[in-house]
Amino acid sequence: MNTILLDGKILAAKLKEKLAAEIGHLKNSTGQVPRVVSVMVGNDPAGLSYISSQQRAAEGLGIHYEVQHLAATASQDDVLELIEQLNSYEHVHGIIINKPLPAHMDFNALINAIVADKDIEGMNLTNLGRLFLGANRLIPCTPASVMAHLHSTGVDLKGKEAVVIGRSDIVGKPLALLLLQEHVTVTVCHSGTLNLEEHVKRADIVIAAIGQPLFVRGSWIKEGAIVIDVGINRVGDKIVGDVDFPSVQLKSSFITPVPGGVGPVTSVMLMHNACEAFKVQTQSN
Ligand code: NAD
Repeated sequence: MNTILLDGKILAAKLKEKLAAEIGHLKNSTGQVPRVVSVMVGNDPAGLSYISSQQRAAEGLGIHYEVQHLAATASQDDVLELIEQLNSYEHVHGIIINKPLPAHMDFNALINAIVADKDIEGMNLTNLGRLFLGANRLIPCTPASVMAHLHSTGVDLKGKEAVVIGRSDIVGKPLALLLLQEHVTVTVCHSGTLNLEEHVKRADIVIAAIGQPLFVRGSWIKEGAIVIDVGINRVGDKIVGDVDFPSVQLKSSFITPVPGGVGPVTSVMLMHNACEAFKVQTQSN
């Protein structure tokens, strides 16, 4: 099988070019740029490194990015108070709650305190409700990245059978809704699924989002299927996906690598949401 690699770095570069042009156009027409505030609580090294890469990405696109850094000892009320302030500032268009949070914080309570049109992670109840109803505004970034990869194949998705493995609130469930909107027939598999392999064997599109290294095998894949690997698993000093790439690529028509597939596009989707949030709040299209 002539497999095409869905290179996330190349797709991310194309999407960034388009986004930078749009932000330049918005700046010319409104005299403003999207402004994002990232809320970080504590000093988790992975969280801090994520913030640095977000900042570089934002600034490279012409988005203003600011960090509000609170001590790990801050209370949930301190963070809620900060969110309330940021909600009220007209010049702040997007708010991010960085993870991991200290154990005494409740991510859902914080994300739901953000006004829906500034929730650029697309994770609060209003944005998830809009997604449920097909009235999407800000959608979660990882599922958006998966959809961008699928669109980049040029394959007509309508009527295809997709198997999404994983039912998390951040990946599997919103992804199933996005696929339904494109008239895909969707099966969502999870840790309680019996005969997982039989479901995967039927699929024209397989999306693995489980967090189990190299779990999906080539022998499960229908000839010509599109395979998107969301997994990020550390094995020794290497990062691997949920898909056993060498055996799966022999059967698939398109496949994402790990690293360098879904991940790079996910971070562009966050900036895309910042731009959408700006447009909604300034009503400039
Ligand atoms: P999660 O732990 O919240 O959910 C995992 C899901 O997989 C659950 O629904 C569970 O039922 C299912 N599952 C677990 N073991 C299974 C098995 N043996 N068979 C069938 N289903 C099984 O994880 P998550 O947050 O959705 O993340 C999934 C993976 O995607 C992780 O590796 C994570 O690091 C990665 N991830 C990547 C990105 C990105 O941008 N590339 C973003 C988010 C998550």
